[in-house]
Amino acid sequence: MAPTLTDTLCTRCGLCCDGTLFGEVELSGWAEAIQMEVLGLNIEDDNGEGGRAMLQQPCTALKGTTCSVYAHRPKCCRTFECKLLQDAQQGVVPVELAQQRIAEALRRARRIHALLSQLGDKDKGLPLKERAAAMLSRDAGSDQAIVDKRAELGAEMSALGKLIRKSFLGHGWR
Ligand code: SF4
Ligand code: SF4
Repeated sequence: MAPTLTDTLCTRCGLCCDGTLFGEVELSGWAEAIQMEVLGLNIEDDNGEGGRAMLQQPCTALKGTTCSVYAHRPKCCRTFECKLLQDAQQGVVPVELAQQRIAEALRRARRIHALLSQLGDKDKGLPLKERAAAMLSRDAGSDQAIVDKRAELGAEMSALGKLIRKSFLGHGWR
């Protein structure tokens, strides 16, 4: 059987699971949330008072770039297709170009992770935007090497954000 585009693209990507595209994703309800907690996923409610059940990202089920609970993943994951995947399915974007865009996004995300680590943030359990925003809001001090790394972090976040808006989520992404 020929591989699907999900096989070709998603299994080498994982950007909608690893905290790069999203910080959290809404589940269909608390019944599903309990099932996901049993599988080891990190679930929180959005207002701390029994509100909407939210799957926290980076998702603990992501191993490398693939989902370790694929057969039991929640509805939001079964139904989500990013703009790039849809464009590739519709032939609007050639598969090779979609692969290049995924590779570029992964390369930029890896560089951002490395910069955050070098700047002292090793908390990989938080979404990328949250970590970068917290780092960039800190006092830079006068060490030129730190100042340069922070400038690169800001530039990489900006470039990644543009790529995500253009190719993965459309311009509704903030
Ligand atoms: S971001 Fe798009 S291409 Fe990447 S895994 Fe998610 S749906 Fe697939
Ligand atoms: S359950 Fe699987 S598909 Fe859903 S966010 Fe986690 S790793 Fe991704």
